[in-house]
Amino acid sequence: MPLKPYACSNCGHWQKYFAPPPDCPVCTDTRNDLPHDGWHFRPAEEVRRMLKGSWRRLERDMVAFSTSPPFGLNGTGWLLLHEDGNVAFEAAPFYTDDMLAEIERLGGIRILASSHVHGYGALWQLQDVFQPEVLAIQKEDLRMTKAFRVTWPYDDALQLRPGLTLHHVGGHYEGQAVLYDEKRRTLFCGDAFKVDQDERGENLAVSTHKAFHKSIPLTPKEVEKYRGVIAPLDFDTVCTPFEYAPGVTTEIALAVLDDAVSGPPGVRHIPMGELRERASA
Ligand SMILES: [Zn+2]
Ligand SMILES: [Zn+2]
Repeated sequence: MPLKPYACSNCGHWQKYFAPPPDCPVCTDTRNDLPHDGWHFRPAEEVRRMLKGSWRRLERDMVAFSTSPPFGLNGTGWLLLHEDGNVAFEAAPFYTDDMLAEIERLGGIRILASSHVHGYGALWQLQDVFQPEVLAIQKEDLRMTKAFRVTWPYDDALQLRPGLTLHHVGGHYEGQAVLYDEKRRTLFCGDAFKVDQDERGENLAVSTHKAFHKSIPLTPKEVEKYRGVIAPLDFDTVCTPFEYAPGVTTEIALAVLDDAVSGPPGVRHIPMGELRERASA
């Protein structure tokens, strides 16, 4: 049987395999739940028939790509527009022909990167179609990247272009990295933070965790590592693989981390009102 991409129906993780894969390394990991009713892997043709693609132009020359109905972890692919070559960070669960045509119209992709495996989505498709010069992933996450080819593994930090830098933070995943965009004052934070939002996209609460489904907290040293990286970065917006959250500032992010080490271990979803008060104190 020929090698081809299959997506896990439970989490959306893509693997290239010569038959439906025996299992999914994301679902068998403790940070995810197993499917309740056994494995179900779908080839790309099947996923293409299931999903409709859409995109949304955001402020600061950004475009968010997503698909519906929800598939797997159902992440968002961020496209940062630059005259001398676009940067894509994280990826949608799949890219329909319409979505690929829109990216092409916007100038394609020169640099591709992701925070960690929960943000990968169909990154392999973006590499196959646009053949970016760079695909950058932190070295500790390499074991999850078999569906595509990493061209630039890195250690602590990697500057993709002036004012746009990847920083290794670990914690949630060993190889997790955040992307700081100085000009856009935006932190693409991976799953270092989770923002609870209402249906209009208003921020309700922010949390930080080792594992979201199982509510496993980070260790004090992991929180300290996040803090060390994030404290010097000046931002007023965070983008997780799932949420676009203007209003989550450096001070608010630091207040979440301070809370995480202030009491007994636990994952707290801290209301925005409380965080704003602490951030201004
Ligand atoms: Zn899975
Ligand atoms: Zn994650």
